[in-house]
Parts: sequence; C-alpha cells; structure tokens
Amino acid sequence: APAVATTTASASTLPPPHFVLVPFVAQGHIIPLVDLARLLAERGARASVVTTPLNAARLRGVADQAARAGLPLELVELPFPPPGCDLPDDCQNADMVADNYQFLHFFFALPELAGPFEAYVRALSPRPSCIIADWLNPWTAGVATSLGIPRLFFHGPSCFFSLCDLQAANHGLHERIAAGGDEDRHAVPGVPVPVTVTKATALGFLIHPATEALRDEAMAAMRTADGAVVNTFLDLEAQFVACYEAALGKPVWVVGPLSLGNRDAETTASRGNTAAAGRREAIAAWLDGQPPGSVVFVSFGSVARKSPRQLREVGHGLEDSGRPFIWVVKEAEAAAPEVQEWLEALEARTAGRGLVVRGWAPQLAVLSHRAVGGFVTHCGWNSLMEAMAHGVPVATWPHFEDQFLNERLVVDVLGVGVPVGATAPVMIFEEDAVAVPREGVARAVSALMGGGAEADERRRKVREYGEKARRAMEEGGSSYENLTRLIQSFVQSEAKAQE
Ligand code: UDP
Repeated sequence: APAVATTTASASTLPPPHFVLVPFVAQGHIIPLVDLARLLAERGARASVVTTPLNAARLRGVADQAARAGLPLELVELPFPPPGCDLPDDCQNADMVADNYQFLHFFFALPELAGPFEAYVRALSPRPSCIIADWLNPWTAGVATSLGIPRLFFHGPSCFFSLCDLQAANHGLHERIAAGGDEDRHAVPGVPVPVTVTKATALGFLIHPATEALRDEAMAAMRTADGAVVNTFLDLEAQFVACYEAALGKPVWVVGPLSLGNRDAETTASRGNTAAAGRREAIAAWLDGQPPGSVVFVSFGSVARKSPRQLREVGHGLEDSGRPFIWVVKEAEAAAPEVQEWLEALEARTAGRGLVVRGWAPQLAVLSHRAVGGFVTHCGWNSLMEAMAHGVPVATWPHFEDQFLNERLVVDVLGVGVPVGATAPVMIFEEDAVAVPREGVARAVSALMGGGAEADERRRKVREYGEKARRAMEEGGSSYENLTRLIQSFVQSEAKAQE
C-alpha cells in the first residue's frame, strides 16, 4: 500500500502541497520526473506533470494506472510545436528530431511554451506550492517569479557531473579548454576527487556556439532557483552532494533512485512509453530461459544513434563475445532495408543466444531480471542509476553531454564499470562514425561478464550499491526521508502564507 504522508496528517486543515513538474521533453528527463511525480502523489502531495500532446500520449499508461490507484497525479498538455514554427507536428520529443536543423528549431521553440504554461498556472486556485522544472527549461523561471511561486530545478545527471559542470562554469574552465590544444588535460577545480578532462570529453549541456544563449539562460535560472532536486542517493554520492550544495549555495534534495518507485510489473514495463508494455512478456519469457547473471543487456538510451557501420560493429562484437545478449536497436537505426536484412541474418546466426529488440524496450523490467548480469550502456544517468539500483555492473560507452563524466564516476570513483574505450563524442546525427570496433565491444563484454578478481569486485561493489539504493528508498532511508522533508517544507510554507 502507498505510504500515505505524515505530512498531510500534521497539517490536516491545509490542502496537500501541489507540485507542478515540468520535464524537458526527452525520455531521459521525462521518465525520472514522472517517477518523482508518482512518488509525490503516493506520499500525499498533489502532482501535475506538464508536457506536450505526444508525450502525454506516451504517458497515458502511467496516468491511468495512477488514477486507478486513486493517486492525485495528472497530466497537463500544452500545445506544441508553436504555430509558424518550422517543425513537423510530431516533433515533440528529442527522439523525434530528424536532423541538426530540426534540433536547433526544437530547442528554440521550447521557450514558447512559457505563454501557455503561465496561463495554466494562473488559472490554478489555489496557486501551486512549487514548480519543479528541468534545468533545460529555464523559460519556467519567469513564470515562477512573476506569480511568486517557489521553483526547484531538476538536473538529470549525477551529482558528480552537476558539480563538475558548475565548477567548470565558476572557474572559467570551458574558456581555458577552448583556448588550449586537443590533447591537453585539464583538472576540474573544486571537486573532492581528482578529475581531468580533455577538449573532447569536457562536455556539458548546450555547449555549442549556436546554443550558448540557451546555456546562459539555463545557468542563470539555476542560480535564481530555490534549490535543486537530484536523482541519486547519499550512499552513492554523499561527498559530491555536499560540495554541490556548498557551491550552489542552496538546498539539494537527493531523492533517488527514482526508478525504484516502480514497484509493479505494469508500471515498470510501460515506463516512458506505454507502447513497450506489450513486449514485456515475450522478453521476460526469453530471459526466464537463460541462466542467472548470464545475459548482457546492450542499449544506448533514448537519443544516441549509431551509424549503420557502427551498428554492425556492435552486432559482430556481441556475436564474437559468445555471451547471451539482448540488444536494443532504435527504429531510426534499423530503418534502411540493408540494415534490417543484416540484423535478421545476425538473429539467425545467434538464435537462442541473442535477442534484438527493435524500438523502445522495457529497460527497467530487463535490468531487474535475474538473468541479466551486465549492461553495455552509453552512461546516461538514468541507465546508470537503474543498473546500480539492480546490482548490475556496466561496460561504459559514453557518447555526449554528461556521459563522459558519468563514466569517470562509475569507473574511477565507484568501481562498478569497465570502459569500452570511447574517447571522443559521437553526436546524434554524425553519419558513418565508428567509435569502437567489434574487437573493443567483444573485449569489454568478456571483461564485464567473465570471471577474475576485477570482474568479481565490480559485481560485489554494485550489489552493495543495489542494497544501499533499496534501503535509501525505504521508509527511514535517506531518500525517503528527504522526500518527506521536501513535501513538508512546502506544507510549512503554505502554512506561513496563511498566517
Ligand atoms: N529507456 C527505456 N527503453 C529504451 C530506451 C531507454 O526504457 O528502449 C529508458 C531508460 O530506462 C532510461 C531512459 O529511457 O530511464 C534513458 O535515460 P538515460 O539517462 O539513460 O539516457 P538518455 O536517453 O537521456 O540519453
């Protein structure tokens, strides 16, 4: 049964606090905030998730399930794309963007959601207690300020990355990197462990001349927010949380791993996209037939795309590794007939040992299956948190943005990852790039799934983090209690407002 909040009991005459959550419209941002919305609703608060029609349709399963459970969770749809904007109607999520031209238009159209968002919030009575908006949605800041509503920002990556990114900005690191050579290594200042980056790996969000203005706005909105919400847990990142809070000068609410809020098979399988729920049973049946810990799961998140050449290298690497595998190939990657043919041939050669999932996979359901013993991941923070929450070690293959620094965290600091060997970013629409050859894939899979002291140590450590993650989310655990305090702080501010 949902743990009903003590918060509402202690302020019984007041309405429960109302949180309005505004995820950035990409799967890796929507999924954790929807998890958070459901946790808030389960714990006695009211939660509204603001998004666009296409994303709302994908989330219908979660919303219906919440409604059946009597949880005060609602989806709010704002119109997008705005009229007159040069984007197809269904270009409403980062995974629907077709090329770099659309990508820029997409980013620059999003702030136009501010008008409809303000109209929605203005019409609410009483006013919401708090807006929790993605770091990439700085257009929410003006609305919150003009209506006098507290605002927290949600930064999706590890606290380690967020700290590095903030310190890089505070200490002019990006300028120094830009002025230096390609091979120069730069220490990231103000971080409690040694971290060095190169020009290629010192990435952050929106670091590109075309998006510089958006990044400046996001940094400014971060500095004027009332606090941050982060999907991590203290037993994993306590030292980085403390430094981040000090550097930011405002509260950092640590409430993860949010994925552990999905406690039943239906919500787990339909997470992020209702359409995936139908695949759950076939995949679970396949996994049921494999020995415990034997299967390597291979998936690169919701946005990264592999060129046909790189796709082949991954497939051959998996085949050559000799290990059972589940490999997720995106529809956009497998669109060309020759790629489809090649995949079918691979499936025939690896029948019984390999499963290729085309399109959206129920990742959380896969990672929580006992047959899965390793995960080749692009180091998106949700994927890493999901792996750690389920005690699954990783082979790390970062592509862009925060992923190279997330890799440093899981490999160097936490000791639960083995690098595949990617040293430079592969951007989304880069045709024909091969960052890692088949030998590299096979080698990393063998290291990850094989025996030996290092592999055993990774497994031991990640299992321990899995235990700690579960405890953090249970009543009395650090993330559970932080969420209680977060909700209570807004009950109290409403009480103050009424004094
Ligand atoms: N995901 C999924 N099925 C897929 C691909 C991704 O369920 O086929 C989920 C995954 O579990 C994670 C999110 O989508 O919660 C991806 O977020 P992440 O931060 O790992 O990477 P991003 O997509 O932002 O690069």
